[in-house]
Amino acid sequence: MGEGADVRRASVGRSVLLHALCRTAEAVRRAVLHQADQNRQLVTEWDELFCPEWHRSLLTVFAVMAVGAPAADASPLFCETLAAVCGAVLHAPGVVLLHHALPARVDPDLDESHLFLSNLAEAEQSRPYQEDGRDDPKLALPTLFRLITSQTEPLVSGLLSDLAAGQTCLVDPSHESHCVVLTHLMAWHLAISYAGHLDTARKVMTAEALREDGLLDNLLQQLFSLMPDSPEVPESYADTHKSYFELEPIFDLSGSGSAEEVHHWACRTYAELLRQLPVLARSWRSSCERALALRVERLTADHVSPLLLAEEFGRLQAADKAIDNMTVRARPSVREVSAVYAMEEVSTELVVKLPTDYPLGHVVADAAGRRVGVAAGQWRMWMLQLTTFLTHQNGSVLDGLLLWKQNIDKRFQGVEECNICFYVLHGSNYQLPKLACRNCKKRFHPACLYKWFNTSSKSTCPMCRQLF
Ligand SMILES: [Zn+2]
Ligand SMILES: [Zn+2]
Repeated sequence: MGEGADVRRASVGRSVLLHALCRTAEAVRRAVLHQADQNRQLVTEWDELFCPEWHRSLLTVFAVMAVGAPAADASPLFCETLAAVCGAVLHAPGVVLLHHALPARVDPDLDESHLFLSNLAEAEQSRPYQEDGRDDPKLALPTLFRLITSQTEPLVSGLLSDLAAGQTCLVDPSHESHCVVLTHLMAWHLAISYAGHLDTARKVMTAEALREDGLLDNLLQQLFSLMPDSPEVPESYADTHKSYFELEPIFDLSGSGSAEEVHHWACRTYAELLRQLPVLARSWRSSCERALALRVERLTADHVSPLLLAEEFGRLQAADKAIDNMTVRARPSVREVSAVYAMEEVSTELVVKLPTDYPLGHVVADAAGRRVGVAAGQWRMWMLQLTTFLTHQNGSVLDGLLLWKQNIDKRFQGVEECNICFYVLHGSNYQLPKLACRNCKKRFHPACLYKWFNTSSKSTCPMCRQLF
């Protein structure tokens, strides 16, 4: 009986001591800061000597406590002590955090990358950007991604440069290039998912920047040299019926890499690219040589499209109800989506057919639907606009339908359309026609107007020909 009580007493004693230490250190830190003006030497000594030393030990204590923390039934003393440790560890200097000796901890069951991405995207959202009215404002990926890929890109390109077209590269896991290729793929996978988490305006600008620097074209070329001919996962890698395209990441921390890891990440990155930036993938496919284009189409239609179509219809079925004045209905068996839009006296149904190699092939808005109170010309215009919104946006079919709905909603609200393209929302950057001619008062999208200035080499209003 005595032994158990001794252990408990010792553990209570340690907690109390730790609690006191944290509170004391925090009090000292504040006292030193308070002295900052009068006593420089004390501050320097604290910053260089005591503070890093103290935090180095504290960080280990914090990690042990956080990992072993009991979830619900923690004692009040434990909670109190953990709070004190957290309060103190908050002030750990950057250099201690960067050079810590804690073991890596990755929990593949937790979708931490998703959490990380939405936080990062949210932080990015608050970063101001310059919208200076140019026709295609651009937004580069955060430095974090550019730093990594600018280092891996030349190495990966070099590694793959000797391959014949259509040949798959087998990366030797014992060679250091294995690590470089994996870093390259993981960084791009993260960057592409990140782009998918941005709001519409930032996504458009990021896609524009990516299109212009051509790096995604290189990446796609590389992916088709790194993906295996068949995406079936060998038993030696994972016991699963899923293909590489749908298999969740496997983080093997034992340090012995495998050639399959590269196949897996190449496939995951390709699927993510089609999911988040289909327009860029489509334009690359149309520019690649015939043999490769055929391989791209076959692999996509056989293995990736069924996956993405299932995701797409899942989303559409979840939204299978009225979204304000639009009702979306999914018919997965025939790969069709119908959208009924109703406003005042007007009701119209448009049917969208998705191709087998979705999202590479073109989505077609079909004239099979019904219309009430809409003139034929107006209806054709709406159908054309729906096709535009589905074809030129880097997102899901549901995103495209919602943009189209917004476009018509704005028209009904009395927002004037652009006098060049006749859309309310611009077909690819979704801006409103916010520039107006001082003379004739007609409105235009900045992008449409700048294009007009460029092609006509004049700065006059397209309607009244007065200087704009
Ligand atoms: Zn326009
Ligand atoms: Zn004018």
